Amino acid sequence: MTEPISPFDSEAIEQLRQQHRLDRQYVRALRNRLFKQFRSDEDATSNFPLRDSLQCHVLQQYRRFDSDLDGATKLLFRTEAGMLIESVILRIATGRTTLCVSSQVGCAAACDFCATGKMGIAKSLDYTEILDQVLQAGQLLAAEDGSLDNIVFMGMGEPFHNESNLHKTIEVLTAPDHFNRSPSRILVSTVGVSDAMIRMAQRFPKVNLALSLHSADQSTREKIIPLARRYPLDQLRTTIQRCNEIQSREVMIEYLMLRDVNDSVIDRDCLANWLDGLNVHLNLIPYNPIEDAPHLTGTEPDAIADFAGAMKGLGVKTTVRYSLGRDIDAACGQLVRKENRSYALQLNANATRHSPTA
Ligand code: SAH
Repeated sequence: MTEPISPFDSEAIEQLRQQHRLDRQYVRALRNRLFKQFRSDEDATSNFPLRDSLQCHVLQQYRRFDSDLDGATKLLFRTEAGMLIESVILRIATGRTTLCVSSQVGCAAACDFCATGKMGIAKSLDYTEILDQVLQAGQLLAAEDGSLDNIVFMGMGEPFHNESNLHKTIEVLTAPDHFNRSPSRILVSTVGVSDAMIRMAQRFPKVNLALSLHSADQSTREKIIPLARRYPLDQLRTTIQRCNEIQSREVMIEYLMLRDVNDSVIDRDCLANWLDGLNVHLNLIPYNPIEDAPHLTGTEPDAIADFAGAMKGLGVKTTVRYSLGRDIDAACGQLVRKENRSYALQLNANATRHSPTA
């Protein structure tokens, strides 16, 4: 019995096709149904003569959480290696739907405010594992007559620490004979890995970039983002200038609002100064408190609105992120941490139960 083939693996699919002298139209139809129309596995593979050779998914859906408050759905997936990852579907009031995907299990950036960074591991996902998050979310939305509009790399992990799989994922997502998605509806958010940002802008100029700046003061930034030491603010500013030249499109600047850390008038002026002359828009993010950072508190909503107003007054295009799924959320990555703990306990319990020495 041969290993089942993933529809994401173009080479293996082509080999299978040649081996069985299958007409190309069958592969084309399979990809259209699965990747573009997001039909169910059953439906998408029904006409494929070698359907028993296929395994549509590399991820197993482990749990699903639907918000009672708004249109957010969190999906917890289990990888073949037994790790849990998280994707979030955001059905926004405007009717647009955004999917937030994970690129890693854990994250080496270890930012002070981030639940994923506190996991203490960093394992990169294979491109098939990133693509399967899109496929499964797309199928879920198609089954409820919805569509998937935007894909953002804002889930677990630092996408540029998994650069080759990130590039491969974007290639398959935008390939006309695969997912055929518009690059301008994809956004990659980074803690700020300069050289990789430039490579991305060069290779995929229409894909949107977001930089998690969170402070325009070097020493403050270093306190909350350890990686800031490696990529100092001056270098990041030059990087954005370079990306602006290559892409002729705005870079999103993400700015987490942390009380008494980065939300003073001095912080604001420092930020306005840093952003001056760059083709960017500023996105202020309300902080989602996490268990492992009890010393951090979010800026009050009124103060965020004042900060936004002042930035606009200084000529900076500014928006405030509206956060969905607060009831199922407790910050991106935190759910997986909780689930990982109970999952590990469960595995331990099973191992003990099945162990002959127990
Ligand atoms: N590693 C990438 C992408 C993952 S995080 C990056 O750093 O950009 C996506 C966004 O969520 C980042 O802007 C990150 O700083 C922000 N974030 C992390 N923890 C958060 C929290 N507790 N509350 C609100 N936003 C958070």
